[in-house]
Amino acid sequence: QTHFLSHFLQAKMSRPVQARRLKGIDKNIWVEFAKLAATYSKVNLGQGFPDFPAPDFLTEALTRALGKENHMLHQYTLPFGHPPLVKVLAQIFEKQLGQDLDPMANVMVTVGAYEALFCCFQAFVDEGDEVIVIEPFFDCYESMVKMAGGTPVFVPLRPNPPKDGKLMSSADWQLDPAELASKFSKRTKAIVLNSPNNPLGKVFSREELGLIAELCVKHDVLCISDEVYEWLVYDGKQHIRIASLQGMWDRTVIIGSAGKTFSATGWKVGWVVGPNRLLQHLRTVHQNSVYACATIAQEAVAQGFQRELMLYGKPESYFVQLPKELQQKRDWLVQSLDGVGMKPIIPEGTYFLVADISQFKSDVPDDHNSDEPYDYRFAKWMVKNKGLAAIPLSAFYSEAHKNNYTNFIRFCFAKEKATLKAANDILQKWKQEKTSS
Ligand code: PMP
Repeated sequence: QTHFLSHFLQAKMSRPVQARRLKGIDKNIWVEFAKLAATYSKVNLGQGFPDFPAPDFLTEALTRALGKENHMLHQYTLPFGHPPLVKVLAQIFEKQLGQDLDPMANVMVTVGAYEALFCCFQAFVDEGDEVIVIEPFFDCYESMVKMAGGTPVFVPLRPNPPKDGKLMSSADWQLDPAELASKFSKRTKAIVLNSPNNPLGKVFSREELGLIAELCVKHDVLCISDEVYEWLVYDGKQHIRIASLQGMWDRTVIIGSAGKTFSATGWKVGWVVGPNRLLQHLRTVHQNSVYACATIAQEAVAQGFQRELMLYGKPESYFVQLPKELQQKRDWLVQSLDGVGMKPIIPEGTYFLVADISQFKSDVPDDHNSDEPYDYRFAKWMVKNKGLAAIPLSAFYSEAHKNNYTNFIRFCFAKEKATLKAANDILQKWKQEKTSS
């Protein structure tokens, strides 16, 4: 009797549980490396989040929202965004794009930029559609395109190292115009643009954006513009919104993140800004998945933006102060890496920096029997043996191109001075050990 029953139960469980759309996307670099960092790291420059506090004006706004003044802030707000937040976002973007926006039609709040991206791919991509993704790219673009039934088509930023022996800059990584043009076809539904770019820190120039815009208009292609690092641009460079280029507003969705904007990644408040003809379909995905986001976090973020709108362009503005501080942190990390021969690629924006590990290869010998890319093994070895966590660059490449970029790792420098100093100490000690051995 028992035997029969167990056989019956086993037979019942032989049917696959996994939906076809999940095939091949089960691995996730952040899940894997967050666990390694938690287990081994003394200094974590891996995943992208600040270890310094969010600004006082933001946390004070949250405390106020929690007070007894308006108990309705503990209840649902409108599904497409808490009114004060969509209103202030519309005001900020009106200022920057120079056009009128309807907060209810042109803005939608999401659970972080991550949900905004998910809504875009689900809303725009059909089976058989192609989506152009510029490499290196924030890894979820590939899985999200696939989950929607589409095919990602990759086009790389190609490095052109400076000839004068100077350090490379993220600006030295460029698209080949002919190669980019060759990826557009009748099947192309959208292109994903991420400027400033994670992981390189590249800030696309007006000419580069113009090239992309021209192709989008010519082939009637949508642009999913991930601009979560919009305020983090250095050396007086300017972040240009592709939506502001001719013919682009009607085909572009701009994605942003309060996590990155206000150094509060745990709040998971994000947004999309764009024309109603695109946003109406994002609303359909959102209302059938998430429906509404946390009211209290949206209230506090709205107050943060109201403050920023008042101080717009002034030295006290967080959008002026944060990049100023981060530029200094970038320079410290550039200096420490350059000092030990882990050559950094100087980022023009974001809080990431990619460094060349070629000179450290003798410490972590290659294992030709492993099919794991070298940079993965290097990053794992480094966190286990040196206590320093970073992310392998090839995680930001498609399967087919991973093996061309295995000599780099990505560091996050949105960290306290003490954290960056501790990283420097590890690197200096490592270099001493290398030279004395
Ligand atoms: N896009 C890019 C390029 C990112 O780097 C990140 C966060 N690492 C996100 C989107 C997701 O942002 P959020 O935390 O707001 O979901």
